[in-house]
Amino acid sequence: MNKAADINTNPLLEGDELPALDRITVEHVVPGVRAALAECEARLGALEAELSRGGGAPARELYRRLIAPLDALTDRLEIPWNTVSQLMSVKNSDALRAAHDEVQPEVVAFWTRLGQSQPLYRALERLRGAPSYASLRPEERRTTEVLLRDAQLSGVGLAPDARARFAAIERELAELGTQFANHVLDATKHFSLTLREPGDVEGLPASWRALAAQAARDHGESEATPEAGPWRASLDAPNFIPFLAHSRRRELRERLYRAYVTRASEGELNNEPLLERILALRGELAALLGYASYAEFSLAAKMAPDVAAVEALLGQLREASWDAAHRDLEELVALARHTGVPEAEDMKPWDVAFWAERLREQRFAYSEEELRPYFPFPRVLEGLFALAARLFGVSIEAADGEGPVYHPDVRFFRVTDGAGGPLAAFYLDAYARPGEKRGGAWMAECLGRRRRADGSLRLPVAFLVCNQTPPVGGQPSLMTFDEVTTLFHEFGHGLQHMLTEVECGLVSGLSHIEWDAIELPSQFMENWCYDRETLLGISAHIESGEPLPQALFDKITAARTYRAGSNMLRQLYFALTDLELHHRYRPGRRAGETAFTVQQRIAERTTVLPPLPEDRFLCGFGHIFGGGYAAGYYSYKWAEVLSADAFAAFEEAGLTDPDARTRVGRRFRATVLARGGSLEPGAVYRAFRGRDATPDALLSQSGLRSVPKSSGAV
Ligand code: ZN
Repeated sequence: MNKAADINTNPLLEGDELPALDRITVEHVVPGVRAALAECEARLGALEAELSRGGGAPARELYRRLIAPLDALTDRLEIPWNTVSQLMSVKNSDALRAAHDEVQPEVVAFWTRLGQSQPLYRALERLRGAPSYASLRPEERRTTEVLLRDAQLSGVGLAPDARARFAAIERELAELGTQFANHVLDATKHFSLTLREPGDVEGLPASWRALAAQAARDHGESEATPEAGPWRASLDAPNFIPFLAHSRRRELRERLYRAYVTRASEGELNNEPLLERILALRGELAALLGYASYAEFSLAAKMAPDVAAVEALLGQLREASWDAAHRDLEELVALARHTGVPEAEDMKPWDVAFWAERLREQRFAYSEEELRPYFPFPRVLEGLFALAARLFGVSIEAADGEGPVYHPDVRFFRVTDGAGGPLAAFYLDAYARPGEKRGGAWMAECLGRRRRADGSLRLPVAFLVCNQTPPVGGQPSLMTFDEVTTLFHEFGHGLQHMLTEVECGLVSGLSHIEWDAIELPSQFMENWCYDRETLLGISAHIESGEPLPQALFDKITAARTYRAGSNMLRQLYFALTDLELHHRYRPGRRAGETAFTVQQRIAERTTVLPPLPEDRFLCGFGHIFGGGYAAGYYSYKWAEVLSADAFAAFEEAGLTDPDARTRVGRRFRATVLARGGSLEPGAVYRAFRGRDATPDALLSQSGLRSVPKSSGAV
């Protein structure tokens, strides 16, 4: 027998502590995941049989029989699968992808089977209906409620006919979503503009020319060079965005812009019928479950209480950013006029990014390269860990070698409380490794915190992954400011995973935190990158050891609020359009009304330069039609309001007052970081802040309202 196929020696299945990341290889994936699945299937079957026997048990007894085994079997599958998923992202290869793709459908099918289990659903209902239910601890009641809510929202509680229809709608929606996304991809691919004259690339930076020459080579122009062309302009974001910001050829900017906002709106790739059908089906799906609209269905599992609350918040933000966005445009017109170009008197959507970039250069030009020498990676880490110690009273120590790693660059750290008691650990995989590691940055769960059946406690472990510049020539990695904020962001997610005090894996750490609240700790941590003292603590020039000079600090903070009104309004335009389409719009119901007329109507109060009449950006709005943001695009702003308001608690207490900072920091740890998904998110937030969040802090942080601070070093 193939040794790898022997499940007794398969390192993927070893225990429930740190995975054997140094020994797991591609051959272990398929047999290991299948063995875990088989075990979970068997455990689930036994649990269902056991649950369908006893009725009428007290809540405590039911909880023990239902939730503990569910937590354990979920954990049994999650450990190997989390490991495989992480390896897919950081150590990708054709062989690993093939193994992953082979078992992924089986894993998905198991989660579906678990989510659709009638015996589990009925047991959850019995538990919540039990007379002694109120005697369960809040964390236990919340676990019951979120599991029940998940089940209900997936249609398990429906009568058989309705359930069949529900499943059919979900299948059709999944297909339509995939088609929608494929159309956008294909339409993006189909458009390109090959530029051959040096005059055509006037203004475009060297990085764009290199990218566009590479794109030309990939499409058969084997002679293309960054210096002499030809250059291929396209609608891919890394190509398109700098083109609009830098190309001095206005008519070329117009061509690209028009192509971009009409992507996937014609011919075989036309997404219009798809998006109308998607909206109609979502409305029907929500109605089956008794919701008045898909937006109400979407909000049932979010922190925002209802559509009215979301609209009220977005409305407040709109009012605060409207005049500022108009002033932003006037500034661009003034600059263009000063430069003497004709477009100053007739600013179009394809001119805005270009003039905004010119104004930015004029006002606070600094390059990311200029900042790098101030942020050597070891110094940044040291400062970040010192901040975590100050705020949350935790100590972080390097423990390389104590946790097995999949690559020599991956570091391992242990987190302890002030007295040295172990709390958690994390892996930090910081550097870009093109070819095997995907781009971006993320935090992923390695192990969740949970109390085992034998009474012992398993501590949480996180994967923190970034893609910063690797060390070169004997120097440590020198980070851009963007890389620094990204590290703080992911570390914030990691803190919530690692400092949880919850003992049921189903609601510990980030599990079951509502979607619109999940970015609270991550964006909260980003705020510290703009705090003078923190920035001094993480910067030291690689040669002189000097901290970041005041002048550069001032530019960084000024750049943060540049065009804040315009940027805010743009997000509100998307969020309000998304909400209106999923709440009030009924496809085909009113003559002359389409998704596009709804979009134009929302644009009247959310755009300074109205979209072109032929604008079809909805046909490329993958977030809501091909991804998971349907009636949820507002979440970006919702979480920003929370994180800014949370940071303001520190400003109010006094950023330079160590005692106050410690007091608020410990409270943040005891509420937001410790409770996570084990309580309703509004209650967690109120426990920290003593009230609900308000948009005031976000507005003053964005420079959209000047609120006098009680103190403040920002
Ligand atoms: Zn995040």
